[in-house]
Amino acid sequence: MEGKIGMDNKRLAERFLVSFIEDSLTGCWNWNRRIKKPGYGRFVIKVIEVYAHRFAYELLRGNIPTGLSIDHLCRNKKCVNPDHLEPVSVRENSRRGNVMDVKLCKRNHPQTPENKFIKKSGKSECKLCKKFLYERAQKKKRAERIYEW
Ligand SMILES: [Zn+2]
Ligand SMILES: [Zn+2]
Repeated sequence: MEGKIGMDNKRLAERFLVSFIEDSLTGCWNWNRRIKKPGYGRFVIKVIEVYAHRFAYELLRGNIPTGLSIDHLCRNKKCVNPDHLEPVSVRENSRRGNVMDVKLCKRNHPQTPENKFIKKSGKSECKLCKKFLYERAQKKKRAERIYEW
């Protein structure tokens, strides 16, 4: 098996195989390393960062045909079990609601779960916006301090 990213590299495969935890209930192989936006596992090959589920598929099933994206049949983005992965066309994937499901806030930050802050009222707030507003306020304070001198 020889894929685009050098699947013959045994050490890479070994590293991959200790990077997830199998869920005995769902059969999902939950990625146990860093997670990339929007919620997919992240696997680093030398300096190249790839999606862990795509790597899993290429490692254990073979090359993903050009232009196809990988759909999670189990709807668990962290999962890297090739039995739960299926290459589909991008159009099919967005039809299934996977690609375009990330909403943007008014400042165009992706509203992924890790970027959302749920208030007690149930309303959600954008964390990046909060950071932006905080930093802007800090800058303003600093500027005012300079004027005071
Ligand atoms: Zn799964
Ligand atoms: Zn925002």
